[in-house]
Amino acid sequence: MTNIPEADLLPITASLSDDGRLAIGGCDVRKLVEEFGSPLYIYDEATLRGMCRDFVGGFADEYPRSHVEYSSKAFANPAVARIIEEEDLDMDVVTGGELAVAMAADFPAERLNFHGNNKGREELEEAVRYGIASITLDSHHEIDLLSDVARESGVRQKVMLRLSPSVDPHTHMLTATGILDSKFGFSIETGDAEHAVEQALAQEWLEVEGLHFHLGSPIFELEPYSEAIDYVLRFAADMRDKYGLDLQRFSPGGGFAIGYVTDTLPPSISAYAKEIATAVRSGCDRYGLDEPELTVEPGRAIVGRAGVAVYTVGGIKTIPGVRTYVSVDGGMGDNIRPALYDSEYAVVPVDRPNAVRDVVTTVAGKYCESGDVLARDVELPALEPGELLALPASGAYCLMMASNYNMQTRPAVILVNDGQSRLIRRRETYADLLAPSLDLD
Ligand SMILES: *Cc1c(COP(=O)(O)O)cnc(C)c1O
Repeated sequence: MTNIPEADLLPITASLSDDGRLAIGGCDVRKLVEEFGSPLYIYDEATLRGMCRDFVGGFADEYPRSHVEYSSKAFANPAVARIIEEEDLDMDVVTGGELAVAMAADFPAERLNFHGNNKGREELEEAVRYGIASITLDSHHEIDLLSDVARESGVRQKVMLRLSPSVDPHTHMLTATGILDSKFGFSIETGDAEHAVEQALAQEWLEVEGLHFHLGSPIFELEPYSEAIDYVLRFAADMRDKYGLDLQRFSPGGGFAIGYVTDTLPPSISAYAKEIATAVRSGCDRYGLDEPELTVEPGRAIVGRAGVAVYTVGGIKTIPGVRTYVSVDGGMGDNIRPALYDSEYAVVPVDRPNAVRDVVTTVAGKYCESGDVLARDVELPALEPGELLALPASGAYCLMMASNYNMQTRPAVILVNDGQSRLIRRRETYADLLAPSLDLD
């Protein structure tokens, strides 16, 4: 695929159809909308599998004892979980609901990990019952709670401890998770992490496999990883000396960036892999540790680029000297990221990706909020009602954060590959919206 300006953001199979329209996975996007309706989320299987292979291969090249664990909160769906399984990745969940998705896909328990900062007793019981490989603990309360659950279940549960390394990844304030002032993780700086290690090692029913941190997301720089890795490995050596901690596994989390707009592209996966592997090896060398197994946890980077959201243009409002608003049939209900994080998106006019774009346009949604904007001040051709707009890089954290605000149904999701399309989540109906409410009489 060659001459679409957003080529680096769109799925790798993006191309122009014979009619000059955007095509993905060999399918004409307008024809997909005619078949499945609008708005529509399209996932490209080739991009998804390609990202899985780039991660598995990229990290194995740099650090042979590495595991890639897909963070399913980016897009939890049984059909995607099947692909993740086939591509030999591990997977993590952060709630019982995500565990249910993994179970619906028969995802092997021995390749699952449970994250999250406040897991409930029932969620822990379900996970232990399923035989989950590992649970990452995030508070003193959770250490006690899981210890109790494990004893009652007669299972010696493998666990990791989530640490907060006080490293700023220079991402949005709301997506930084490894700084001192964060709800996530045991802080090394305050001494809390040391207490957690001591507490967890004393639990008969827990087996502490190793340490984990997650800095935030998306992280466009490499340096924060090596800085945090060095700090945590030094801590690991200290804990070995004081309490006999054996670091068998180490995870520097996820946070690998993707391209949302054409002028901010992420480092390559192999650059991340080289930075992380080098930092782990040199830290182990420096502090006299045996090299642990390495787990990385990409979420966004696995599914983000594979997904494209497609909307239909409705009303157009030009305020002379101010701006042009184009309203579409979705918005903050299916993608809250611009409203929540000021995230930017590129916008592709599906019917004429190569048209001259000379109108500065703000693409707004249909929800009753002024903040319901998908893309601010992007250059587009003068649009007409009924035209389709595609937002690249919509595969991660859009539908997973979707709501039914305004009692709006959530879009359908399809998977495309080699000219074939398959519905993997049907569009919601009004009956779906009403189902949880109680009858009036
Ligand atoms: C969300 C999350 C990830 C994945 O983050 P991405 O930015 O999607 O790569 C990995 N690990 C943990 C613990 C997380 O909470």
